[in-house]
Amino acid sequence: MPPILLAVDKSYPKGLMWFRRDLRVDDNAALYHALRNCRQVVCAFVFDRAILDALPRVDRRVEFIRESLVELDAELRALGGGLIVRHAVAEDEIAPLARALDVQAVFANRDDQPDALARDAKVFGALANAGIAFHTHKDQAVFERDELLTQTGQPYTVFTPYRRAWLAKVDAFYLKPYPARGYADALAPAPEKFGAPVPTLAEIGFEPSNLAELDIPTGSQGAAALVGDFFQRIDRYDTARDYPAVRGPSYLGVHLRFGTVSIRQLAGMAHQLSQQGGAGAATWLGELIWRDFYFQILAHHPHVAEGGESRSFRPEYDKIQWHHGKHADLLFDAWCQGQTGYPLVDAAMAQINQSGYMHNRLRMVAASFLCKDLGLDWRRGERYFALHLNDFELSSNNGGWQWASSSGCDAQPYFRIFNPVTQSERFDPEGKFIRRYLPQLAKLPNAAIHAPWTAKPLELEAAGVKLGENYPKPIVDHAEARERTLQRYGVVRQALDKRKGSA
Ligand code: FAD
Repeated sequence: MPPILLAVDKSYPKGLMWFRRDLRVDDNAALYHALRNCRQVVCAFVFDRAILDALPRVDRRVEFIRESLVELDAELRALGGGLIVRHAVAEDEIAPLARALDVQAVFANRDDQPDALARDAKVFGALANAGIAFHTHKDQAVFERDELLTQTGQPYTVFTPYRRAWLAKVDAFYLKPYPARGYADALAPAPEKFGAPVPTLAEIGFEPSNLAELDIPTGSQGAAALVGDFFQRIDRYDTARDYPAVRGPSYLGVHLRFGTVSIRQLAGMAHQLSQQGGAGAATWLGELIWRDFYFQILAHHPHVAEGGESRSFRPEYDKIQWHHGKHADLLFDAWCQGQTGYPLVDAAMAQINQSGYMHNRLRMVAASFLCKDLGLDWRRGERYFALHLNDFELSSNNGGWQWASSSGCDAQPYFRIFNPVTQSERFDPEGKFIRRYLPQLAKLPNAAIHAPWTAKPLELEAAGVKLGENYPKPIVDHAEARERTLQRYGVVRQALDKRKGSA
């Protein structure tokens, strides 16, 4: 369904714009609707203790949000408004704040994560009790919820037809921006007793991370700089995106996560270039469509990631007996710390541990290694990524892990098992990425860097590599692990065969 425009009669004297994961002024659907429908709009953000209290005290994402809020507040102030920032449990805070501000309506952009839906349902109830309306708007996705269904009215579970339908339906209507800035005269500054500067990290109980050191740009301005850089090289995206040593991807994930950039803007730019024949833009647009695809999978199948315990999209995959116990815990620790003895996997884990980013190809390799080489439950890896990725997105992370473990809706078949050495030879042929993250291997020749245990003793000595001392020996043998995995996934084969038999 196209977005429903509310009447433009300034029906509310005063409204509250509740920013959540949409930290920008430009092309912000809820802000636009608030400004068009209220004579005065006050803006607020809540550092939600329901989320923050469970996090370690150093978290790049919290710092990213905080820095982005400083920019957003300044931008709103320049337009005549400002931001009220609270540190509280959001579901308890919004209705009292709305009452204290004496608003008649609250506006927010929709979030279909199960926890966010539960929060919004409570907020809706509390606001309704106070006689205050709650309007939510589509902003995170180009198509959400039931907007794209199969001809029989079912949600898509396979990506390729979804992508086809997405491309057939998308047009200027769905991609047009919401020009919130044009209605900014309705912005009202925060009343004095609510107005305070955006709290420091220390004030919300966090310590600085290495965000600034990593030079990760924050806020809309940071996103705009990345967009400018990426669109100069988008033509090369399709050929460069699989090589982790190359600056192929956009690095916009964290900005899409926190809404410092508009998905309509990005999809619109990529769509236009792709219509003009740009192969890189067409491939990149496909990635944005994956994002929409996983959003709607989670919306229609919340069991995949609800209540803190993910379940396989295909139930037969929950019958798999994963390796567990002390030895499994040791393997998991080695994976987390990048100590598996497989350089590409270890470099990937070093990348996420040091920066909160991991290249897409490496997410696939590291995830496959966890479940198909180490035999560990994919949910352990999913949780680790959720804690460490700057761009952690519940739907995409769950989708990515279910893809790698083969339990997902449109996953790779269970018998396809990435070989971490051949992946390394293919996608980091000169070992540039490995050398960057594993300097202790930097002097190994190209032929040995993907599998140091195959190097000649003299080569190891010349490169200063002491296996088992400054770099681990492989913790599993890939060929043996592959056989164990095929056996482990046997329960799936049996279930599938049984189903075929009874069909
Ligand atoms: P680009 O290649 O420039 O892509 C642009 C944007 O498209 C991304 O920012 C993202 O929003 C979207 N996108 C790209 N690939 C995918 C994909 N396969 N599925 C869904 N959206 C995609 N992506 C996340 O945004 N958050 C996650 O938590 C996440 N976890 C993942 C876990 C695993 C195991 C795997 C295999 C993939 C995961 N991805 C996740 C998808 C993908 O790896 C990242 O989106 C991408 O690497 C982010 O880097 P970028 O912004 O430079 O991407």
